Amino acid sequence: MSELKVPFQDFRAPYLELKEEFDAAYRRFMESGWFVLGGETTAFEEEYASYCDAAHCVGVANGLDALHLALLAMDIGEGDEVIVPSNTYIATWLAVTHAGATPIPVEPDLKTYNIDPNLVEQAITTRTKAILAVNLYGQPCDYEPLLKLARKHHIKLAIDNAQSHGACYNGKRVGGLGDIECHSFYPSKNLGAYGEAGAITTSDADLADRVRVLRNYGSRIRYNNEIPGYNSRIDELQAAFLRIKLRQLDEWNARRAKIASTYLSGLAGIPDLILPHVPAYSSPVWHLFVVRHPNRDELQQHLAGAGIQTIIHYPIPPHLSGAYQESNYKAGSFPIAEQAANEVLSLPIGPHLTDDQAAYIIQTVASFKK
Ligand SMILES: *Cc1c(COP(=O)(O)O)cnc(C)c1O
Repeated sequence: MSELKVPFQDFRAPYLELKEEFDAAYRRFMESGWFVLGGETTAFEEEYASYCDAAHCVGVANGLDALHLALLAMDIGEGDEVIVPSNTYIATWLAVTHAGATPIPVEPDLKTYNIDPNLVEQAITTRTKAILAVNLYGQPCDYEPLLKLARKHHIKLAIDNAQSHGACYNGKRVGGLGDIECHSFYPSKNLGAYGEAGAITTSDADLADRVRVLRNYGSRIRYNNEIPGYNSRIDELQAAFLRIKLRQLDEWNARRAKIASTYLSGLAGIPDLILPHVPAYSSPVWHLFVVRHPNRDELQQHLAGAGIQTIIHYPIPPHLSGAYQESNYKAGSFPIAEQAANEVLSLPIGPHLTDDQAAYIIQTVASFKK
């Protein structure tokens, strides 16, 4: 194996950049003697709600819980249908399944990889309670037609915003645009914790209140359990760390955008290589830089041989995974999602990738002979 020259992601760099702040937050946390649902959580919730231009933020334990509790808060359960993209991380589907409802997959637009709004209406039935769209790879989904459909059919538009913290749709920040938006702060995300964390944002006070009660054993007042809730509280230390990273997020996203534009110009015109497309409504935050190639596996090998680590997001679409083998889906059920799974490749991108590393990646991709 060749020496690893460019890891897919540099997890130590953000700590080294802001070491004093993280260390001080840790000391403050240890000395406070308060570890769950305290001042750091409240402050993070206020700061992140304001960042998203949403009235409310409720911190939870992880992104899957954010999705699951959001669906429960909307009263979605047994017998209900929720429209999901066929091309997403499996968590989007699992949240629907865990709520007791049925995920109804709709194919993506292969140009943006996000759910194709033109295919959504034909999937709506009398059982449909919500559209759960995803802002995949750092790019907002096409909110406007989706909101229109949701209003027309009196259903909710929920958003899985695990991958697009800080992205904008027509100049407006995601997080405050759907009826409820769900965020993961898993370490690899643009706004990543040092462990597990998640949140919902919404401007619907009732939905926020329901999630707040659901995350804490169904109680508002200690030992008064109004409903059978969950334990999905955000960790106080993670909230403290996230507040530090949130202040840096726009700068880090801007650095990602600069690398993306270097890639877009440096990789333009390479035969068979399909580059990311940015629609006019979108200001993406480049969680991932996803290219497509008919000889994807060979391209990945070629890059690995040069010490460049890449990842496939995602190699198996949810409908072909073991988790959904009871659903009677088969190869060919969602051909666009399957084509994406066969052809996509994520190149390294992140706020701490250097210009030299980006140039090396461009040069290595350009030297690939299929
Ligand atoms: C990461 C991710 C999730 C799940 O978040 P966790 O915090 O790992 O539970 C959900 N949806 C998408 C699209 C993701 O990328």
